[in-house]
Amino acid sequence: MIPVKILCGCGQKYAFDIEPAEGRMPAPVQCPVCGADGTAAADSIIAQALAVEGAAPGVARLRATPALAAVAPPAPAPPSPAAAARAAARPQQEWGPGGQGDTWKWWYYILAGVCLGGYDIWRTVETGRIKYLGGLFLAVFLVAIGVWDFQRKRKKRAGN
Ligand SMILES: [Zn+2]
Repeated sequence: MIPVKILCGCGQKYAFDIEPAEGRMPAPVQCPVCGADGTAAADSIIAQALAVEGAAPGVARLRATPALAAVAPPAPAPPSPAAAARAAARPQQEWGPGGQGDTWKWWYYILAGVCLGGYDIWRTVETGRIKYLGGLFLAVFLVAIGVWDFQRKRKKRAGN
């Protein structure tokens, strides 16, 4: 069934659902107000509806393949300009005199190392298993990086 809505020349709108016969109105239709023939208008509406219906699956199929192909490659692409912009912005921050980007990194390492070390010690005490002490090496390593980074930046700042 195809919904047909006709706006007659007299200004009257009328609508009906019709099962088309060979793509056309199976019977003539008239405006209920002025009696003007609406068959031609209905025929064109049916033809449009049938064209959309017939084209829809083909359009969907055509659209699906390039869409998948088009969506897949750009997906990794957008982050890279953003990452490049962030990477470009970072050195500026780091070179800034005592800016936030300059100072937060070294103590971040130390904080992470202390947290990790504390967790490892807690796990060791809690479970009585010495294997958790292995994580302390990583914790000490993180703290060492933090101290090294701190001293490197302090020297750099003193050099400026
Ligand atoms: Zn009319």
